Amino acid sequence: MSGEKPRKPATAVAHLGRDPAKHIGTVNTPVYRATTILFDTVADLEAADRGEYPGLTYGLHGLPTVADLQSAYAALEGAHAALAVPSGLAAITLALVGTVHTGDHVLVTDSVYGPTRRFCENQLKRLGVEVSYYDPCAGEGIERELKSNTKVVFTESPGSLTFEVQDIPAIAGVAHHHGALVLMDNTWATPLGFQAFAHGVDVSIHAGTKYLGGHSDVLIGLISCNEATYPRLHRLWTDMGVAASSDDCFLALRGLRTLSVRLQRHTESALSIANWLEGRPEVDEVIFPALPGARGHALWKRDFTGACGLFGVVLKPVAKARLDAMLNGMRLFKMGYSWGGFESLILPVDPGRTRTATSWQAAGPYLRLHVGLEDCGDLIADLADGLARLHG
Ligand SMILES: *Cc1c(COP(=O)(O)O)cnc(C)c1O
Repeated sequence: MSGEKPRKPATAVAHLGRDPAKHIGTVNTPVYRATTILFDTVADLEAADRGEYPGLTYGLHGLPTVADLQSAYAALEGAHAALAVPSGLAAITLALVGTVHTGDHVLVTDSVYGPTRRFCENQLKRLGVEVSYYDPCAGEGIERELKSNTKVVFTESPGSLTFEVQDIPAIAGVAHHHGALVLMDNTWATPLGFQAFAHGVDVSIHAGTKYLGGHSDVLIGLISCNEATYPRLHRLWTDMGVAASSDDCFLALRGLRTLSVRLQRHTESALSIANWLEGRPEVDEVIFPALPGARGHALWKRDFTGACGLFGVVLKPVAKARLDAMLNGMRLFKMGYSWGGFESLILPVDPGRTRTATSWQAAGPYLRLHVGLEDCGDLIADLADGLARLHG
């Protein structure tokens, strides 16, 4: 069913990227494990050498389980086509390498995912690409940051850790006017929560590791492209040999089937918990764009169709030992990297450490919460006990 127009999201995720008639009637596309693909004739082999063979030629390129995930994601997001790679970080780095040349300048949001910044510093600069960082809230003010050689504006909205909502249409308007492409890390919202291409993005990147996988057991990345950017990114994907495995694409497709219903529940519980936290005396601020009154809410409401379970909480100043006691004693909100699984997580973070264009101002400690699919009352009880431990 590749190329099929999506219906309502809940229906689309149930039906995109599978065609039982091609697989003895099985509901799901099976895992194709294959390296060698056999040719019947010398003529076929010669056609493959010329790049004219209509079928698959090698297991690295286009096995059905991989192709079905790619076509499903592209349709869901309104992209021309998508590419699956072994991690979200691989999706980001491939998209960047595929869109810049030596001597180009890349503008990166100051709120970018840490490893993206690390890649820019360690690798893009080594390849002779200039990199600078901009205030995520700049909107059309980003015009001041553009140089004659700016070829890519990298966005991520909401930003990692601090959840700044970016004015993507305004940024895209300015970037396109100057001939630069707009790349976006759209992991937080998924295609269900933010339609990147309708808002001017050229390449939309996802850590499917998070909500698409949904069970904390698969690493996968997706790069959704518009028609102009697909050929060069497809070329690079092929040349670098970085297709995702069929097993991982199978798990991602399985996750896709329940993405809509899981995100609804994550969001509902996260909003209840965020509301409850706002009323607590230990809390200074809740940073969750989907929460009415929170910073970024107006832009979120204008552009987004959904949210998820990930947000931040600024606590009032408290001794480190008390904060450690809170975190060490949590029963349901456990500490660990990544998010998007069924389980709740909590993490103390310091967003100020890597900023260069902006600074992080908070009097007290900052926590990132991932609200999972557990009972919301149980989660609140865990947090209430945790906040009580702050008082000793
Ligand atoms: C986790 C994450 C990534 C990287 O995904 P991996 O699959 O873990 O490499 C990229 N961007 C954002 C915003 C993320 O949260």
